[in-house]
Amino acid sequence: MQNLCVLGATGSIGLSTLDVVKRHPDKYNVVSLSANTRVDEMHMLCVEFKPTTVVMVDELSAEQLKLKLLQDDIHSIEVLTGHNALSDLASSASIDVVMAAIVGASGLLPTLAAVKADKKVLLANKEALVTSGQIFIDALKSSNAQLLPIDSEHNAIFQCLPINIQNNIGMAEIADSGISKILLTGSGGPFRTLPLEKFSNITPQQACAHPNWDMGRKISVDSATMMNKGLEFIEAKWLFNLEPEDIQVVLHPQSTIHSMVQYKDGSVLAQMGNPDMRTPIAHALAFPQRIESGVEPFDFFNCKSFEFEQADFERYPNLKLAINACKAGQGACTALNAANEVAVDAFLNNDITFNDIASVNKTVMDKFIDTKIQTIDDVIELDNKARTAAYQQVINLKGNS
Ligand code: NAD
Ligand code: MG
Repeated sequence: MQNLCVLGATGSIGLSTLDVVKRHPDKYNVVSLSANTRVDEMHMLCVEFKPTTVVMVDELSAEQLKLKLLQDDIHSIEVLTGHNALSDLASSASIDVVMAAIVGASGLLPTLAAVKADKKVLLANKEALVTSGQIFIDALKSSNAQLLPIDSEHNAIFQCLPINIQNNIGMAEIADSGISKILLTGSGGPFRTLPLEKFSNITPQQACAHPNWDMGRKISVDSATMMNKGLEFIEAKWLFNLEPEDIQVVLHPQSTIHSMVQYKDGSVLAQMGNPDMRTPIAHALAFPQRIESGVEPFDFFNCKSFEFEQADFERYPNLKLAINACKAGQGACTALNAANEVAVDAFLNNDITFNDIASVNKTVMDKFIDTKIQTIDDVIELDNKARTAAYQQVINLKGNS
């Protein structure tokens, strides 16, 4: 029996994780859950999974949850609040496995705490790795933690790698195993064929309607701008110890192949399946075994064709920015990630246009591109500064509109 902590339990990945877990009551025990503000959703999870401890980061939400639990006569669940409580939860001795599924850089400290406490860490929160890079990998190296990728592309790549790399995430040399390229696939999002002149009128609702995947709002917008693929490019660099030149982005609109590994003998190994995050979640939970996930088997006789295209940087300037950030260094990656979180939020609030996201991101990334990052405090300081600069850009753009 493995004791599980789900950080970001009320989100899309959190709920998919719990859906897989409840199919295997003999294997996984839900000990702790966290969320930010979604009280009703957390209340339902408490009733269903009866965790020992719950963190609501927002204080008022924690009070509301406590009241609801009292009304239900549930006294056994400890409800904590505050950001520090997340790290305590993730590093608690009562936990074996941590699902890191908070969205954004807010997930960094709790995810790092789980690594430092030698947990099996299932990493969905790509922003944590993007924003801290080498520091995160160094923490992994000096711990006994096991890191498994949940992002479907990175999980697919992981599945196509030889066992010596799987057992040395972030450290092994791919060339030693005869690997010549990592092919990172992406659907191209909902605007792959939309005429460019229509981009300025894209609404948040349109951007959140992904053709193949059902996800949280931030990652949905990131998929539409392809910043998501850019963040995944940086994530892949750290997870698989790559140079930017080792990674090729391939557009594959059907999202059936979730990524590929090319070997020097000409072999290309791909991982395929229906686009449903329960597959990578089940894979990582059970690795090296396999368990039922609830995902339907892929139907080859009813599938559309498999198409592949190059990504067009005019259509996806955020992808180009992220690849440039990956080449430039940690300052650029941390600043870009922070700016993007602010810009996407502003777009979702109708404060800026879809096209403005890239312009906020570029301005902020350029401003901090040479910032040196050596410690986690440097990361947090730059994250804060970049957010402030991005808010300023948003205010300037609002003033001009
Ligand atoms: P979501 O918005 O659906 O859920 C986010 C969760 O994080 C919620 O439980 C929320 O309460 C919590 N949260 C939000 N802000 C917080 C804060 N400041 N402090 C603490 N908790 C906070 O997001 P999601 O789509 O589930 O994505 C979660 C992570 O997984 C992201 O990093 C995303 O990039 C990654 N991911 C998601 C998918 C997907 O299909 N949804 C696929 C691959 C990777
Ligand atoms: Mg992904």
